[in-house]
Amino acid sequence: MRWIALVQIFALIFLATDLPGQTNERHLADMPDDFEGQQMHLIYATPSDGLDNEYDIDGTLERSVSIAQQWLTSEVSRTWRFDTYQGSPDITFVRLSRPEDVLFQVDDSNGSISFELELLGFDNPDKMYVVFYDGAFKSGPCGGNGGEGGIALQILGGKTNCPFFGFADSSTGPGQLRQGTFGGVMVHEMIHTLGFVASCAPNHDDEHPAHLEGISDDIMAFDGTGFTLYRLDKNRTQYYEHGIPTCLDLSRSSVWTDADLTANPIPGKGETYITLQPIDCAFEFANPSRGGGEESPIRFVNLSQRVVQFYWLGFDGQRNPSERVGYFEAANGGSAGNHAFLATYEDTGECIGVYRLQNGRNQIVIVDETTPEEIREKVLGDD
Ligand SMILES: [Zn+2]
Repeated sequence: MRWIALVQIFALIFLATDLPGQTNERHLADMPDDFEGQQMHLIYATPSDGLDNEYDIDGTLERSVSIAQQWLTSEVSRTWRFDTYQGSPDITFVRLSRPEDVLFQVDDSNGSISFELELLGFDNPDKMYVVFYDGAFKSGPCGGNGGEGGIALQILGGKTNCPFFGFADSSTGPGQLRQGTFGGVMVHEMIHTLGFVASCAPNHDDEHPAHLEGISDDIMAFDGTGFTLYRLDKNRTQYYEHGIPTCLDLSRSSVWTDADLTANPIPGKGETYITLQPIDCAFEFANPSRGGGEESPIRFVNLSQRVVQFYWLGFDGQRNPSERVGYFEAANGGSAGNHAFLATYEDTGECIGVYRLQNGRNQIVIVDETTPEEIREKVLGDD
């Protein structure tokens, strides 16, 4: 009887690996790209202690991509370039380093998750990262949270307190995209990341920037109601082939599969930053901001275990509160010429360092003893 059992085991193994519709292989890194050029890369992310629903390998996210592509084809007869590996969407699984309750408390859900992904090496200047996060945030975003040049974030746990349908029934037929589904949220957030809706659109919603008002069934309407299926600028008047000179046009974006070399790149990609070294706190009063000089964007990064409060030092040397940055978070401190900043630990008020901006360069202040490379190793090593 023994050999029969063995045959049965072999049969099971055979079935498990060859049945159509079975789970795909899981990838923990971005796989080699099938095509060059700017493209969208999908990530399924869970908190360190979160439930793993296997949406990356059970066909769920793959289905969202295919529904989006069919919808774009029916709306504008074009498709987006999603990152693929051997012909299928390349989806990466990421277990984040922080547990669910810690992530739940962060102030800036999008910035906090995108920053950790950046540290993990998801920083390809040709890619938009489309992230499905299997958790929720106290700051309350329902299904999505996206912004120009950042990640396109889908918050799967947000549907518990908001009217979202989840993944189910993202379409009711070929070429359709249903209102309030994660397939729709994904497309909406991706269009935000590409910089839309621009404020020059005639129906731009000034109360909810980057959205439309008065066209309720549009995918970019803020609070569209009373309809079932999304449309993409159906009258060609707002953000797609609108013909308004100097107003950003989605039809000119680099992520279309038929984009040419003059297309608009994904915003904010490919910027490099230099790391500013701290000046001893004893020299705070010798380093007021002076003004003038070229505009110099600054970014604050906190890799210490404590909350850090940044100040910009006034022309009179006074401290003026700037960004407050939690652990494992980054914040943009704006752009200024010939300014100086100071960082303190929020709990004790202890000064960490004084930082003088250099002229006309993107720069970054990192509060910690560790470098981003060391953190990356730490995070990856913990896996
Ligand atoms: Zn939006």
